Amino acid sequence: MSICKKTIMETSELLRTKKIGAVELTKEYLKNIRKNADINAYVTVCENEAVNAAESAQKLLDSEDEVSPLCGIPMGIKDNICTKDIRTTCASKMLENFTPSYSATIYNKLQRSGAVLLGKLNMDEFAMGSSTEYTIFGSVHNPWNGEYVAGGSSGGSASAVAANLAAFALGSDTGGSIRQPASFCGVVGLKPTYGLVSRFGLIAFASSLDQIGPISKDITDCALIMNAIAGHDPKDSTSVKGHASDYLEDLDGKVDQLRIGLPMEFFDSALDGDVGAVIRNALKSLESRGATLSECSLPSIKNAVPAYYLISSSEASSNLARYDGIRFGYRNENAKNIADLYRLSRKEGFGSEVKRRILLGTYALSSGYQDELYKKALKVRSIISQEFNSAFEKYDVIAAPTCPTTAFKLGEKLNDPLKMYLNDIYTVAVNLAGLPAISVPCGKGKNGLPVGIQLIGKPFSEKLLLNVGKRIEKEIGRLEIEQKEGL
Ligand code: GLN
Repeated sequence: MSICKKTIMETSELLRTKKIGAVELTKEYLKNIRKNADINAYVTVCENEAVNAAESAQKLLDSEDEVSPLCGIPMGIKDNICTKDIRTTCASKMLENFTPSYSATIYNKLQRSGAVLLGKLNMDEFAMGSSTEYTIFGSVHNPWNGEYVAGGSSGGSASAVAANLAAFALGSDTGGSIRQPASFCGVVGLKPTYGLVSRFGLIAFASSLDQIGPISKDITDCALIMNAIAGHDPKDSTSVKGHASDYLEDLDGKVDQLRIGLPMEFFDSALDGDVGAVIRNALKSLESRGATLSECSLPSIKNAVPAYYLISSSEASSNLARYDGIRFGYRNENAKNIADLYRLSRKEGFGSEVKRRILLGTYALSSGYQDELYKKALKVRSIISQEFNSAFEKYDVIAAPTCPTTAFKLGEKLNDPLKMYLNDIYTVAVNLAGLPAISVPCGKGKNGLPVGIQLIGKPFSEKLLLNVGKRIEKEIGRLEIEQKEGL
């Protein structure tokens, strides 16, 4: 079996027992990336830096000290997370030549664990999208079938893990961008509770919703990455203290006496029949292990998509005001005056989806419309939070499909923004309420593409979610792609 197919846990064992060297391992991954260039997962591959980092990791492994299980493990990072001296583009012409002078806290933490950065991963521009087609670097292809999208906006991250082009990856999730591509690519994706993982160095899309999280091959790996990245960061004012725990401890998949709520709004007519059947099968397996399933209702969920798009676009219109052609980012060189410089730099630097969001957000915040749009959306947001809170008085976990469908075809929704937005119907409410949620692969749809089940919990219940995910994994097994010939 190719070394790149192994989980972090398995690979770490091989590194520690000297069955493989860190440099050799990194080179295997780099070879795999080159062979699978058609997936288009990476926008930047940092070969030299990766080999250097692997050499340092090997020194750590050779030392007598106890090392992290991530030491020497090759990873990919979504290209909206700042990596010092390594280009960070947000897949936008605006930042095409931007090289940060500092690193995100999360990257610093992983570097300290000895993880090896292979490169930066493709995404929808500024993380706005659900298919990784809105990128200046070309669409990402689903590794299960190249005619289909990998999901988005962390499509590069999910496809890289599914195709064994990184042992794990980081993504960001503002309205589903970790969970939806994880579901489409058959890997595990966790959106942590808002504030649990530092956002310092994450290029902002919608600051009250954005969260960084892991994408991994299995649940144990996800827990292991959480151990490295969760925790308070004084550089992020929204980061919380005292909530990180040992996510590997007691990860046994016990679900007896677990009360699972199934909101009927997530099992509606939008849900494809074959996806629904796969989800119900996974739920049955939990029931057979002692969990109780009950139908419940979150009536305001129907307003989650409009509220999400108003709030996220409003915040984006403010966050993206900094790209003015002056301080950093793309600049039009022919502008004759300052107004033209702003106008032309933004016109040429941003893609059409980003412009659509800025326009919507600016409109929603403008005087005269603010009460009717932005403020109303905030009210919906707090009602949704209250509905989740009441549900968690009765249930430990809420389970639902991650997406109404399996991956769709490349180009299928590209010219219909509304259709694209509706793909987020089951994911956005979680961000509005700041809750943790995980997508766990649980089978395949009629077209042979993966289906993910979404488990949603109370704030800081990541351990419980991982445990339930572990049970599903034990019952159903991992979804693995056949390696291409010659790999
Ligand atoms: N698909 C959603 C959007 O386009 C979510 C994006 C995200 O989570 N970054 O806004």
